[in-house]
Amino acid sequence: MPRLGTGTLVIATHNAGKLREISALLELYGVDCISAGSLGLPEPAETGTTFVENALIKARAAAEAAQLPALADDSGLSVAALDGRPGVYTADWAERQWFEGPAGRDWYMAMGKVEGMLCEQGADVDRSCWFSCVLAIAWPGGESAVYEGRIDGVFSWPPRGVMGFGYDPVFVPEGRTQTFAEIDPEEKHRISHRADAFAKLVAEQFGG
Ligand code: IMP
Repeated sequence: MPRLGTGTLVIATHNAGKLREISALLELYGVDCISAGSLGLPEPAETGTTFVENALIKARAAAEAAQLPALADDSGLSVAALDGRPGVYTADWAERQWFEGPAGRDWYMAMGKVEGMLCEQGADVDRSCWFSCVLAIAWPGGESAVYEGRIDGVFSWPPRGVMGFGYDPVFVPEGRTQTFAEIDPEEKHRISHRADAFAKLVAEQFGG
């Protein structure tokens, strides 16, 4: 497997927040990051059924189109009692499907959907869940590398906290009492599924 050098790496995301976070981390290792959006690359359909498949679809599409190494991520929340759902469909569960009104994502609706499905299983339902993050790097020649991160926790109701994003207000990491939305963001970034995946990427790509 090739290694990332100090050259240019395409970050295959059109999400400005992700781009900032990923670029800041990789620039520490001399990597020059450029976004797929700024190169005008199209976003491929995420047709995979696993985080790994979707991360590879995005990384490979960007690497082929730009003829540069590319990195993509895919992440989501899996709930044990729901057989791992919403999983790769985490963002889709927040998609508003009303015929009128503004399009967009409604995280409270999505969190409520998970809570509703858990409640259907009774008061003592297992509330274990985990966040996953897969980082995939693809090179134009067809090679690739995949790094998987995970953090376990409990789905807590009602939502608490105002920091973070997405499902943070209902996720209490194992061994803690506060939700991700109540934990200082710097602390969250140290322990999160994304931090876990990045630590593995950095160890293999830039380690001794
Ligand atoms: P992606 O951009 O397709 O990977 O979407 C994954 C979705 O999972 C996001 O839109 C979030 O709702 C959710 N998610 C992933 N990581 C986190 C996190 O750290 N906190 C809260 N929600 C997250």
